[in-house]
Amino acid sequence: MTQLEKVHAQFIAEFGEAPSFIVRAPGRVNLIGEHTDYNDGFVFPLAIDRAAWIALRPRADATVCAISLDMDDRRQFALDDLRRPAELKWIDYLTGVAWALAERGYALRGWEGVLAGDVPIGSGLSSSAALELAAARAFHCVSGFEWDAAAIALACQAAENEWLGVKCGIMDQMISAAGVQNRALLIDCRSLETDAAPLPDESAVVILDTGTRRGLVDSAYNERREQCEAAARHFAVKALRDIDSPSFAARAHELDALSRKRARHVITENDRTLRARDAMNADDAALLGQLMIESHISLRDDFEVSSPALDAIVDCANADEACYGARMTGAGFGGCAVALVNAEGARSFVERVSACYIAATGNQPALYVTRACRGAETVFP
Ligand code: ADP
Ligand code: MG
Repeated sequence: MTQLEKVHAQFIAEFGEAPSFIVRAPGRVNLIGEHTDYNDGFVFPLAIDRAAWIALRPRADATVCAISLDMDDRRQFALDDLRRPAELKWIDYLTGVAWALAERGYALRGWEGVLAGDVPIGSGLSSSAALELAAARAFHCVSGFEWDAAAIALACQAAENEWLGVKCGIMDQMISAAGVQNRALLIDCRSLETDAAPLPDESAVVILDTGTRRGLVDSAYNERREQCEAAARHFAVKALRDIDSPSFAARAHELDALSRKRARHVITENDRTLRARDAMNADDAALLGQLMIESHISLRDDFEVSSPALDAIVDCANADEACYGARMTGAGFGGCAVALVNAEGARSFVERVSACYIAATGNQPALYVTRACRGAETVFP
């Protein structure tokens, strides 16, 4: 049963009639451009074929009532009495989106519905952004406000930052809102301008979940952000985005060794990400793969956010004949890597890399071939 069929059938079982709307919003994987979003830089994710789904109908009162099939839980809240959570639960993602939209002047109406998803939770594919965008789309359906992908993404990011207390850049919400089928999306995280580029012909994107989860990620993430901000202050620019590689090379010696490495990652990564667009437009899978390999080395050695498990799975992938290039993806310290592979060899790549990784680490990985899908949308009616 697909997620669509599941929320549709469960909605009928719960409410005794067909839903008025079914919405979906995808998770994402970032091909290249890591730890650049909060430096006002460039990222290059794609929306994946895994998503959060909600089947719903409007309510006459200002109440939201949601049933999570994955959590086997039912919760409700009043739109005129939103409470900030003491301890995060799934419903707080919905409350947070309601709060952020209302703060921005959207007039919200109540709804009730059934929610399910197949973005793995906590593996770095952003099940949280998928849930936020699906919730925003549900509010859009019943409230009738205009859907501007960038504005909605900003509201959902605010929900995550200010309501849920999770620091994150704009990438996850933006790609879940604005993903394009069969395209990766270059996002300028300062202007929120996007440029959709086709993945190379005959290539496939494989997600490689190490099966390890991020520990200590929040404090390390905050530390990296602060180091980047300090380096930007040193160069008297708004963000590291404002320094190109040649000017950095000329002045890098002014920074202490650690700050230099951190800044060098961000500045060279922005460069690689823009070159990745050229590689895609030239249908050059080999060059795109090479840029991904260089990105991993920079994340591992300069930004120091990889882990032994991520390095092991990336090494297995890069040693494989079907692979153009692989790198860790997401915040790091565990979670997933991403590989660009030859489409024909993708199935056997998955088998060989799984075996290689198990032999190297003893961990059980999960590898899946994915494809680029559309961002948040109403699929029914
Ligand atoms: P991720 O890296 O997947 O975004 P987060 O910790 O940021 O991990 O967000 C995961 C949280 O989002 C879950 O703990 C849960 O509260 C919520 N969530 C995500 N997907 C679902 C879902 N399908 N059903 C209910 N809650 C979900
Ligand atoms: Mg998240």
